[in-house]
Amino acid sequence: MNILVLNCGSSSLKYQLINMEDESVIAKGLVERIGIEGSILTHKPTGKDKFVVEQPMSDHKVAVKLVLDALKDAEHGVIKSDDEIAAVGHRVLHAGEKYQESIIINDDVKKVIRECFDLGPLHNPANLIGIEAVEAAMPGKANVAVWDTAFGGSMEPKAFLYAIPREYYEKYHIRRYGFHGTSHMFVSGETIKFANLDPEKAKVIVCHLGNGASISASIGGKCVDTSMGLTPLEGLIMGTRSGDLDPAILEYLCNHENLTISEMLNILNKKSGVLGMSGGISSDFRDINDAMNNGNEVAKQTLEAYAYRVAKYIGSYTAAMNGVDAITFTAGVGENAVWLRPMVCKYLGYLGIQLDEEASAKAVGERMLISTPDSKVKLCVIPTNEELAIARETLRLVK
Ligand code: ADP
Repeated sequence: MNILVLNCGSSSLKYQLINMEDESVIAKGLVERIGIEGSILTHKPTGKDKFVVEQPMSDHKVAVKLVLDALKDAEHGVIKSDDEIAAVGHRVLHAGEKYQESIIINDDVKKVIRECFDLGPLHNPANLIGIEAVEAAMPGKANVAVWDTAFGGSMEPKAFLYAIPREYYEKYHIRRYGFHGTSHMFVSGETIKFANLDPEKAKVIVCHLGNGASISASIGGKCVDTSMGLTPLEGLIMGTRSGDLDPAILEYLCNHENLTISEMLNILNKKSGVLGMSGGISSDFRDINDAMNNGNEVAKQTLEAYAYRVAKYIGSYTAAMNGVDAITFTAGVGENAVWLRPMVCKYLGYLGIQLDEEASAKAVGERMLISTPDSKVKLCVIPTNEELAIARETLRLVK
């Protein structure tokens, strides 16, 4: 049984077709520049040459149709007809507090996705367009929504409420939701299996460090706390997002730089993080690390601040759970940046944590234990696989 996984952005669409018998990827691909000049589909069937389609794609409907055509292409395709797709799993950002469990999409679900446009203005509209494009291309096919906020749904009010007047929670549902939920759910579950922990009681911290970055604490696979908030802006320092900061900075800078609140938020989302802190070197951690290695002091301060924030969160989440059994690094930076792990772990000696530096240096993009046998807490690198997690959820619902 094959599941198609779709992740629609405002002008992009990522997809994977997964064979659920052995969870292998049959084909994957990316459509970029939907609705703008230079639309391009790059289709990668497993074991065959990649296939590129360059033609105008006015909207996601056209893009979805071309993806289905590529999957069925006589030469580059992997299936003969749409019947070989059992269902489609969609990554959807937000359903507010309405849905936390994955769900088969119907008109009510689409209404909720629409109602939450203002909570996820960049993602929810694109997610809905993707769903409607699949409905048009394959009428009657089961579509499943897997929410990026789902993992955070198990947080208690003490973790998700902000200390602002209660009426804002009651009126507008202003609260911590958390994001990267599919990744945190997948990686925390895989950590429990990989590190051989008690599935009911394991205390796990997952550091999802990519371009966006977030950290979660979970007990027995259930989220206790997570660093992103109402939006993905809160928490760790990221590629271009500031993460935590004193909200009074906003008023100060708006007044002194003559900025509107939207302009200010755009700066905090797109021009801050390691890009902004480093004085504009890059949002790519490889470039900042290169600069640090070449003696650039600002790059060094930036990466030290980045690692320090990760370590502070690990400390606070260890307190929140009254202990921790395993800490896992995942996503682009977490899986690949071997230089970062000693920078974080040097703060964690008080927990009896010992990084095996030799093992860590070899752990690039693959599942590995990187703590010494004496370490009181297991340190792991586990590549995230959000597509597989979405496919598993989709299969569970349509079976
Ligand atoms: P996202 O899904 O949030 O776009 P990813 O998880 O793919 O991000 O991570 C992308 C980031 O990973 C890039 O911005 C890059 O800085 C970082 N990255 C990738 N490879 C390495 C590496 N070898 N060393 C350091 N950082 C890396």
